[in-house]
Amino acid sequence: VLRDAAVTVRQRLPPRTGRAFPLRRGQVLTVIDPLGEQVADLIAFADDDATEHLSSGRTLDYASTLRLTTGHVLYSDRSRAMLTIVEDTVGRHDLLYTPCAADTFRILYGDPGPRPSCEANLISALATLGVARRSMPTTFNIFMHVEISGDGTLHVLPPLSRAGDHIALCAEMDLIVGVTACSADLSNNHRFKPIDVEVSA
Ligand SMILES: [Zn+2]
Repeated sequence: VLRDAAVTVRQRLPPRTGRAFPLRRGQVLTVIDPLGEQVADLIAFADDDATEHLSSGRTLDYASTLRLTTGHVLYSDRSRAMLTIVEDTVGRHDLLYTPCAADTFRILYGDPGPRPSCEANLISALATLGVARRSMPTTFNIFMHVEISGDGTLHVLPPLSRAGDHIALCAEMDLIVGVTACSADLSNNHRFKPIDVEVSA
């Protein structure tokens, strides 16, 4: 992957893979679910200092809702605006769960692996752009459908996204972004599908 290789045409992430690319301020990243019921985990780092990252906590602080959709802003751990959601045909995403990882498959599913995971896919994709991490912060889990019972229990349900549904995010600063086609069984209704990404010129 070349450092300045922007994704200006639609590109397909095969099932259970990840990709990283620069996103300049003002560019719009569109994440498309081409077949339906597929989650895409998104993470972002500041291009000028990759220790600054997308923060689910700060984002929820300022949004005051778990239902992030058009108009909401994703913030960094330093409370800088990173991305604004400018279009959203689904309206259901998650900002509570970490990216699926070898540890979550082992602890939640009793699967010792090895198998692909969003965390490992993000770590390796971002490493090619100079973002060195041993773990990932909580991701913005696009199309991930989580419901919360009155007693606080979390339920992971099949995504509400149908073929062609998408979300578009405008970069508020220069970023390095990572996106996956998620590898977790439950989040994707037990079928692993591709994810398409496109960046405006
Ligand atoms: Zn995943």
